[in-house]
Amino acid sequence: MDKIEKVLITKSGKKFFAKSLKEDLHTQYGFIKKQELQDSKDGGLLKTNTDKELFIFSPSFSDIYRKIKRDAQIIPLKDIGAIITETGINKSSRILDSGSGSGALSCFLASVAKEVVTYEIRDDFIEIVKKNIEFLGLKNIEIKKMNIYEEVEEKNIDVVTLDLPEPWKAIESCSKALKPGGFLVSYSPSVPQVSDFVNAIRQNENFVYLRTVEIFEREWEVEERKVRPKSQGIGHSGFLTFARKVS
Ligand code: SAH
Repeated sequence: MDKIEKVLITKSGKKFFAKSLKEDLHTQYGFIKKQELQDSKDGGLLKTNTDKELFIFSPSFSDIYRKIKRDAQIIPLKDIGAIITETGINKSSRILDSGSGSGALSCFLASVAKEVVTYEIRDDFIEIVKKNIEFLGLKNIEIKKMNIYEEVEEKNIDVVTLDLPEPWKAIESCSKALKPGGFLVSYSPSVPQVSDFVNAIRQNENFVYLRTVEIFEREWEVEERKVRPKSQGIGHSGFLTFARKVS
């Protein structure tokens, strides 16, 4: 995968990515010479050969993250945000995640948490996740070929995140992995999955059910006095269900 060296943003918010500082950057507004890309500091203002102004920045984690390889349906940032804020994931948190898919959720959580272990059953996805971990330069994430419905090796985990076809089958494993007070979060796109998962949690004496939410994000177009929601955006992604392990 191509690295991102710099991000260039027009005054109206359009982004361009420079993959190499050894080449000129060509945009729809003309080009910027490689020497200028190399010499400019973060936040500097550059001009293309046709006088279009662009600010230059080092890429943020989210800029790089948006370029990861994705094969499975990845969880959107709005939902990752809700998982972090609802469970209070921070630099001392230990996370177990499954299934890894493209590793989007586990990689983002690793950028915030102390460490993340992610379980995946498919070899092709494991390879994608390994590439994404390397691309993002993360050192605190481990991927294991394991079936979370059957077993877990981790203990004393603060938060388990599930993005699985049948998350209720993982409840027993999650119970063994989580410390008392730890959070279990399940992300599912469809209503029957939520229903079966919440029913199973309610019948399980190791957990207390907290809540199920759907997060809406609507991006707006802001052009002079044309201020309105964008016609296109993310439609439905998934529901998030939160539970806590009791002692
Ligand atoms: N959250 C991920 C996407 C997960 S897609 C992301 O953001 O990228 C669901 C994944 O779960 C698939 O890759 C599938 O192979 C894996 N999976 C399904 N059943 C599993 C199981 N029992 N144990 C571990 N992984 C499983």
